[in-house]
Amino acid sequence: MLRSVRSRLTLWYAGVLTCTLLLLSVVIYWIVKRSVMERTDAGLVELSDSFLATLDAELRDAPAAEGVVPAAQQSMIEHQYPGHSFAVLTLGQLLVSSADLSKRPPDGGRGESSPRISPESLASCLGALGADSPGPFHSLPGRRGGVRCYARTFTEARRSYQLVILASLHPESELLERLRVAMGWLIPFTVVLASAGGYFLARRNLAPVADMTARADRIGESTLHDRLSVGNPNDELGRLATTFNRLLDRLDLAFERQRRFIADASHELRTPLAILQGESEVALSRSIRSPEEYRESLAILHHEASRLARVVDDMFTLSRADAGQFPVNLRELYLDELVAECAQSVRTLAAARSIALSVESGGELQVVADESLLSRMLLNLLDNAIKYTPAGGKVIIATAAAPSGPQITVSDNGPGISQELQPRIFERFFRADQARTRANSGGAGLGLSIAKWIAEAHHGSLELTRSGPQGSLFTVRLPAKQGTASSH
Ligand code: ADP
Repeated sequence: MLRSVRSRLTLWYAGVLTCTLLLLSVVIYWIVKRSVMERTDAGLVELSDSFLATLDAELRDAPAAEGVVPAAQQSMIEHQYPGHSFAVLTLGQLLVSSADLSKRPPDGGRGESSPRISPESLASCLGALGADSPGPFHSLPGRRGGVRCYARTFTEARRSYQLVILASLHPESELLERLRVAMGWLIPFTVVLASAGGYFLARRNLAPVADMTARADRIGESTLHDRLSVGNPNDELGRLATTFNRLLDRLDLAFERQRRFIADASHELRTPLAILQGESEVALSRSIRSPEEYRESLAILHHEASRLARVVDDMFTLSRADAGQFPVNLRELYLDELVAECAQSVRTLAAARSIALSVESGGELQVVADESLLSRMLLNLLDNAIKYTPAGGKVIIATAAAPSGPQITVSDNGPGISQELQPRIFERFFRADQARTRANSGGAGLGLSIAKWIAEAHHGSLELTRSGPQGSLFTVRLPAKQGTASSH
């Protein structure tokens, strides 16, 4: 049961509520008890004032020889209240008490009998008048809530007397008992009611989560385009659903890219394989062939096998780059030297196509980079420039020190790339002119994707700066201070 969030929430809620209500009840009970006692004590002080005033008046009217006792008795008769008893003492000796009166006060109809004046209760009460006592009031435990006693000293004819008043605490204890009973019912009732309400509220609010879980469970590779419904996009659950949907968008896109990559790759591999198969079948179809014919067939087979190897190598590079597993080994190197080496290695190719290749060096430029990756990027750009520029054309590779860092540009005066296709040239397997490209060079459309990845792995960039009938210009920008590179 406690495995669900709503049960745990409810339990926490009920626990906290119970503790809070208990604490609150204790505080309320304590405050009520205190104020009830204060009221009782104030009543006792008032009663003693009135008693002593009556006693005073009686003494003034009576002959001096009679003493305090008859006046006190008269005062007690006049102060007969249910639940109250009086006693007058001198030097600890009981002179007179309301228990001696023949006419006892009525019960008051509430079982509120007046407390008994016992020697113990008087002694205990007088003890409250002692020096170390906190005050003149004292509570005596007993049946029906016990007794509150009040002791007060008065002087008459230069003798000291004590007046003791005992008040039954029955009404106060009844009030407090009613409060205890009410709280005893109210706390469990409130906790049960609030917990049930909390449970249903949590259930109602968490229902969209259960719905999202069920829907997310149903989403698989084939239903990746399904999305969660977003109730209120501004609340927490709505934001969760939106974030989840965005995650699905990214996954969908990645799956789509993967699917296209596999489809393009198999399409790309099928052509050279078909040529290999067809050419070898032709070579084997006749039992006797001239050495020239065999050589010719073998040359075709070799060409296609090389192309196949190049495509597979490029695909392998990109898949490792995607997985972040392609190692990037950085070291300090001179960019101008690397550019010169790359130009040198394609010089024969350019000459074979009657293309003038020139290098424009921007001086000594030091970078921290992976040499083989950087030269692979430059060779891809140079290879494209030579491949797509007609005979008699011109290809220039130049380096320069820009404020943002070293730059390499590869330009040609070939036919360029049409405006609408320019944004797509860095896509994998993209070729602007499928038929021409394949017939001429057999490129798989991966060269620029790899070159772009290499630039980015060095925290740089590769872009087509311009392209038109006058030719194309590709720019590689490397960061000024090359310290790090990543393999994504
Ligand atoms: P490919 O293997 O086809 O050369 P790339 O990724 O290197 O693949 O290039 C993608 C496409 O961009 C090419 O097919 C070509 O149409 C176009 N392209 C690249 N470089 C040039 C260039 N210098 N001039 C004209 N078109 C180019």
